[in-house]
Formats: sequence, C-alpha cells, structure tokens
Amino acid sequence: MAAPKISEAHQVKDWLNAAVSVAVLTGAGISAESGIPTFRGDGGLWNNFRAEDLATPEAFARDPKLVWEWYDWRRGLIAAAEPNAGHRALAQLERRSPRFTLITQNVDGLHDRAGSVSVLKLHGDIWTIRCTACERERHDARPRMETLPPRCFCGGLERPGVVWFGEGLPGAVWDEAVSSAREADLFFVIGTSALVHPAAGLVHLAKSEGAKVVEINVAETAVSSTVDLCWRAPAAEALPLLL
Ligand code: NAD
Repeated sequence: MAAPKISEAHQVKDWLNAAVSVAVLTGAGISAESGIPTFRGDGGLWNNFRAEDLATPEAFARDPKLVWEWYDWRRGLIAAAEPNAGHRALAQLERRSPRFTLITQNVDGLHDRAGSVSVLKLHGDIWTIRCTACERERHDARPRMETLPPRCFCGGLERPGVVWFGEGLPGAVWDEAVSSAREADLFFVIGTSALVHPAAGLVHLAKSEGAKVVEINVAETAVSSTVDLCWRAPAAEALPLLL
C-alpha cells in the first residue's frame, strides 16, 4: 500500500481552508482498519455470503433466524472494534468547520463512538431494532442476543433497524443529505465503492452543484473518474494528515 502523499494532503488542506461548507460521505472502507469487513473488495463480506440471502426483506420473510444470526455475528464483530484514526479525524474536522455534514452508509455506529456529533445515517443503525408489527424502535447494544429472532413486547417479530436492498432510505435523513451535498464547497467520498444507490448519487450531485470532490479510497471506484482528486490511501492514514 502506497503511503499517503504529502502533496495530496496539501492540496486538500487548501480546499478545506477555503471551504465554508463541507460534506463527507463515508462507506464500509472507513471502518476496514477497525477490523470490520467491507461488503466488496478484498475480504469483503459478499465473497462469503450472498446479499440476496441475507440483506433483503424477502430473505427476512423466508428465514428470519438465518438473517438474525448473520446480524448477531456482525454486531459481535462491531462491538469488539474501536473507532480508528480516520473516524476520529472526521470528528475533529466537524468541530473545526463552520458547516460540516457527515453522511454515512455505515450501520456500525463507529462515527458516534469517535465523537462525531451529527451523523446522517442513510442505511440505519445495527444497534437499533424495530418491531415489524407495531413499528416500535428500541436501542439494543447487547453484542449477542439471547434468543433469535428477538420478539417485541407486542409479540411481533423484531428486525434490525437497517435499510435492506430494495428498501427506501429514511426520507428526512435523505433530504438533509441532499441539501448538504448541494451546498457543499468541498465534498469527500471516503471508503465507498459508490455502487449502492441512491447514496452514490450524492457525489454527482455535489460535483454538478460546484463542489470540489475528493475521493479517499485504496482502490478505484465507480466515481473515481468524476472527482477532482483521487487520494489513493487508507482513510485512517490520510484523514489525520488534514488536521
Ligand atoms: P463496499 O464494501 O461496497 O466498498 C468498500 C470500499 O472501501 C471499497 O471501494 C474499498 O476499496 C474501500 N476501502 C477498503 N479499505 C479501505 C481503507 N482502509 N480506506 C479507504 N477505503 C477503503 O462498501 P460501501 O460502498 O459502503 O457499500 C455500501 C453498503 O455496505 C452500505 O449499505 C453499508 O451499509 C454496508 N456496509 C456497512 C458496514 C459498516 O457499517 N461498517 C460494513 C459492510 C457493509
């Protein structure tokens, strides 16, 4: 892996200093250095599991126990992980920037644990559980469930509070993400393959509305040809250089 280049850090810092409004879109790659597997790429979860077997409403209707076993395993991995220097650098940038919006596709909660105050979670939160019958939501931070699948007080089946393939994004969160992409002077796209829509569309929106767009990723992605600067580096090494 090439070390982050100082010239890229300088260029991005110049843009950061000039920007009034900064927006950041993160994906699974920012948590890779905390030991949480991404979905795609080396060691990606989809190399061992099929998304359509596990992360869809149809899969849950077919076999809720199997889906819950997978989420229970992921919750255990995440509970044992710590935020890394990339998460922490973003929390510091939030404190330093006049207008800063952090949008994440991640469900792991590591941005919150790193100290980010305002996080737009496009795909929900693995620590939230929702009843499929009465819709009651609750926070449950136990890394391992006692009984799978869990049930609500009302007797209904509970599901992970995440957005599955084929489901819509939470409307208010999405609207806020769109506004921040529109008004951003500087937009970062970090650790995402940019293949999942509509999240990936935020990159094109920000660019078309005049933002400078910086990608931080270890590999080329679907938006690499759109952005102003591709910073080929692990997020946990690149982001602290901006502080
Ligand atoms: P993805 O798995 O499709 O892509 C991961 C990306 O991260 C790749 O482009 C890879 O090159 C890059 N990457 C890997 N290590 C990196 C590093 N150290 N620094 C910078 N980049 C690195 O992930 P995605 O685009 O976020 O996919 C979207 C879906 O994955 C979302 O729905 C999200 O909910 C889900 N997901 C979330 C988590 C999590 O919460 N931690 C984990 C896996 C998947």
